[in-house]
Amino acid sequence: MALLSTRYKALRGTILHCRSDNDLVTQLPTDVFGDRHRGVPALPEVGMRVQGAMDPVVQTIDDGLLLLSDESVVGIIDAALIEDLSAQWIVEDYRGCLIAPGFVDVHTHYPQTEMIASYGQQLLDWLERYTFPTEMRFADPAHAKRVAELFVRQLLSSGTTTAAVYGTVHAHSIDALFEAALPVRMQLIAGKVLMDRNCPEGLRDDPVQGYEDSKRLIDRWHGVGRFHYAVTPRFAPTSSAAQLQAAARLLDEHSGLYLQTHVAENRAEIAWVETLYPEARSYLDVYARYNLLRTRSILGHCVYLDQEDHELLKASGASIAFCPSSNMFLGSGLFDLQSARDSFQRVGIGSDVGAGTGFSVLRTVGEGYKIAQLQGQCFSPAEMLYVATLGGAQALQLECQIGNFSCGKKADVVVLDPTATELTRARSNNSGSALDTFFALAMLSDDRHIRATYIAGCRVACASAS
Ligand SMILES: [Zn+2]
Repeated sequence: MALLSTRYKALRGTILHCRSDNDLVTQLPTDVFGDRHRGVPALPEVGMRVQGAMDPVVQTIDDGLLLLSDESVVGIIDAALIEDLSAQWIVEDYRGCLIAPGFVDVHTHYPQTEMIASYGQQLLDWLERYTFPTEMRFADPAHAKRVAELFVRQLLSSGTTTAAVYGTVHAHSIDALFEAALPVRMQLIAGKVLMDRNCPEGLRDDPVQGYEDSKRLIDRWHGVGRFHYAVTPRFAPTSSAAQLQAAARLLDEHSGLYLQTHVAENRAEIAWVETLYPEARSYLDVYARYNLLRTRSILGHCVYLDQEDHELLKASGASIAFCPSSNMFLGSGLFDLQSARDSFQRVGIGSDVGAGTGFSVLRTVGEGYKIAQLQGQCFSPAEMLYVATLGGAQALQLECQIGNFSCGKKADVVVLDPTATELTRARSNNSGSALDTFFALAMLSDDRHIRATYIAGCRVACASAS
């Protein structure tokens, strides 16, 4: 057997991910295994069909190897099929841990990191009382830099490897975020907030300024490394018609941009939008009228959508950011997962910090389970895994690059340690499957359970450093 190059690395532990019918069949290259293992049989797909639009399958291997080459996944295999691992691989041993794809957070606000868990009020009061004063402080670039670095560390120590992020109205807030994420080669979608009315003077741009600032940021950052720019009108109440038109122009003028905004989060907000845009059939229809619902549009919340809205959203190819911890914290309402599922929407999970109560996508899907329970709906452990990983990637149109361990995808990985605390150790000893352990961690985990986070094959966070 040919000797292997040392650039190959294997993570050993319990492999847990979602396969998609669209994934390429994993072909293990002969230079990885040598000829002897050419006939390695296809792995059985264990688990259940996930209820959901994309119909993936959960695959687990109790003692598996995730094989990495440079930045990418080469394949997964049962460790029992390989003899004398140490001679062939640089093995990082995580036996007893779950090895899952890095988590995908499809909606969060980095400037709100330091105001997380601020008491009281529903959405509109909360914006006035906490959010706007907090975001005013980002006029100082040094403050933006400090918070951006804190934010990136929080993502990594929570196992998040891809995120869609709002800045503030200040263009340099986005420079600070991308500069903080650049050294770890993180995949980020982000944009400066557009806001030209119904906000304090210090946070207000105008349609021309917002357009030009966004354009400069697009030129500087869009397509650099793993960064994508998102045109980011905060929400309809804080943007004039002229600004929404300018946002659409930016999308028309550059390929591959995202659009992120909020919709139908809170009843008072919806009533306000009705007075500001009386010609629109619904809140979502405001964005449709300005041609902002597109394949790469990410709509935060979507708590109050009717059937016509669902059809509009589906036809546009836009995605939903389900933000359960935020919706409960602000008392906004219960997201109707079943209706989204019935309408075949793309749904990802959003931490929505600072209205959301933590950075952990894992804990946030756990909150989503409770929201489903309150409505008598099912949100299975398999679907929770899917939404936190491959489903999030699909919501961001990034499933060709991330979301599972299909051959050739970027090696973005989270290693979850069920033994990190006495309680979770006891619970995992009583667990019937890897998926059962995953579900328990969605309820019980914190950053002690994130044993390691890898981005593009490099370990960028580990429990001892958090
Ligand atoms: Zn938000």
